[in-house]
Amino acid sequence: MAVTGLGPYDDNNIFARILRGEVPCKRVYEDAFALAFDDIHPRAPVHVLIIPKGKYVSLADFTAGASAEEVGGFFKAVGTVAKQFGLEETGYRILANMGGNGHQEVPHFHVHLFGGRALGPMLLQ
Ligand code: 5GP
Repeated sequence: MAVTGLGPYDDNNIFARILRGEVPCKRVYEDAFALAFDDIHPRAPVHVLIIPKGKYVSLADFTAGASAEEVGGFFKAVGTVAKQFGLEETGYRILANMGGNGHQEVPHFHVHLFGGRALGPMLLQ
């Protein structure tokens, strides 16, 4: 079910539990700003979720509340993960769902990284 993308942060959301190590994940990258792990239901040969270490509900919350260092560090991590998977030559897509119309399901800001095949013009249905 989609979340609003706004409102208070829920410390028991699944990505908070992954960050705390309470729920396992297939970790592919981690630094001071971000954790990246395989999506449990991959929609492409590479489908990685990159999440900030801080408690932000959505992209709206992240851009409003995070420091420039956190925002910069996070997006550098996104680029680093794409490079780590060798996607720079073939290309890739990043996606951040926000709120109801964006069909955001997990209320901890995350970016999807898709690659490994031609993705078509857009992922809209
Ligand atoms: P959203 O719709 O919020 O942008 O995407 C949430 C993503 O989280 C979905 O692609 C879903 O497959 C993934 N996901 C949900 N629960 C888990 C989990 O427990 N582990 C992992 N690795 N991914 C999850």
